[in-house]
Amino acid sequence: MPAMNDQAPSRLLALLAASLWLADFTAGAALPKPNVLLIVSDDQGYADTGFNGGQDIPTPNLDRLAKSGVRCTSGYVTHAFCSPTRAALMTGRYQQRFGHENNPVYDPLDPKEGLPLTEKLLPEFLQEAGYVTGWIGKWHLGASPAHTPQRRGFKETFGFIGGGHQYLNWKPNPRQYTLPLERNGQPVEVTHHLTTAFGDEAAAFVKRHTQELWFLYLAFNAPHQPHQPTPERLAKFAHLNDPKRAQYAAQVSLMDDAIGVTLEAVKQTGQDTRTLVFFFSDNGGPEVNASDNTPLRGHKGQVYEGGVRVPFVVSWPGRLPAGKDYAHPVSSLDVFATALACAGQPVPTDRKYDGVNLVPCLAGETKVAPHERLCWRVGGNQLWAIRAGDWKLVRQKDKPDELYDLASDIGETQDLAGAKPDVARRLAAALEAWDKELIAAVFPGSSVKNEDWGPGGANQRERPNLKPKQGKATAPKESLNP
Ligand code: CA
Repeated sequence: MPAMNDQAPSRLLALLAASLWLADFTAGAALPKPNVLLIVSDDQGYADTGFNGGQDIPTPNLDRLAKSGVRCTSGYVTHAFCSPTRAALMTGRYQQRFGHENNPVYDPLDPKEGLPLTEKLLPEFLQEAGYVTGWIGKWHLGASPAHTPQRRGFKETFGFIGGGHQYLNWKPNPRQYTLPLERNGQPVEVTHHLTTAFGDEAAAFVKRHTQELWFLYLAFNAPHQPHQPTPERLAKFAHLNDPKRAQYAAQVSLMDDAIGVTLEAVKQTGQDTRTLVFFFSDNGGPEVNASDNTPLRGHKGQVYEGGVRVPFVVSWPGRLPAGKDYAHPVSSLDVFATALACAGQPVPTDRKYDGVNLVPCLAGETKVAPHERLCWRVGGNQLWAIRAGDWKLVRQKDKPDELYDLASDIGETQDLAGAKPDVARRLAAALEAWDKELIAAVFPGSSVKNEDWGPGGANQRERPNLKPKQGKATAPKESLNP
């Protein structure tokens, strides 16, 4: 496998790639299949991109991406925290349909903690359609050998298997936030900032696959804590009054650079008009990391908008309009159906799928909203929500339902459940019908509140699994590479 920093391909190669694609386009009746580049950030606030109005953290590369495509102003993820969102993203199904409702504990010896093996993932489908598949960054979908990305459809991999990681100068040890990085399952040394490394690795992937269709899942752990920007980047935000905000801003800024490096590789190799790009955060900004969800209410862990509505862009120059806003609700669920449609693959009929091919919607070829409704459930029996049109119903265990009109009240400040009982009943009935289609969590996982990104680098439930009596768990590298 080539080294991380590939040399730039020649201009000739780029022109050749572009001309081959053009010949394919002009000869065929249907539009050529695009590459799919799926970029996900981690714990980024709704307002923390320039394209969503952020002022204090420059994100020129993300803003350029938004200008090249469609900004989805009601872009949602399926969960209010990390792993369940990713489970739906990879399957195109609400994650509670298969019991993935918690963050899996990092434990290479536990075959239950992870995305159930009964599910077939997007990269598996795309491999069958002839795509080269790559994953770079954060996994967080199970650490047992059978759950690793190499075993779930990704041919080329680079990243860490757990739910988070330190960024700079960590001493590798068998805790998930300090594990050695792995390329194709083998430990690899990373000497510079982890976010920068992910961008370089993504650019190298793009450059070595100019002659093939590819799918790259670039899952940054930035700007998830711990905040460990480079000192140089942190210095650029010294003017911000809040030191924590400055740290967070520097992390976002480094990620924006890495995204820029990746997108520049796409452009340099002549692939920009045949690459479909998605970008969004895996959940809303948390209460604790100095992120900003303005003007939304709430934060990560909640089903108010601040927990599940995220910065969201879809770009495909030449196929989708540039610089357009799209207001109908869209979901991370839609990546699966959109990618399969672009790859010329039917969505299977053996089970219920929940996503929609967004291309006709975003291209303006249909005015019909992609989703009649979107639903959420967090904690099994703790929090629920449903959005239908502009109405949003929020249900919290043992509390009266709340109803908001997001068209006039994006901040969910005026509870209209009493004033609009018919609407509240209608949404509640739809939510309960959806909930009946779901199953209980199939693995207990760890509470999002137990995340621990400090020097110990483990969440609390990880520790029992690393006791000496369970022996091999102290050597996760071996367990991860059967
Ligand atoms: Ca997250």
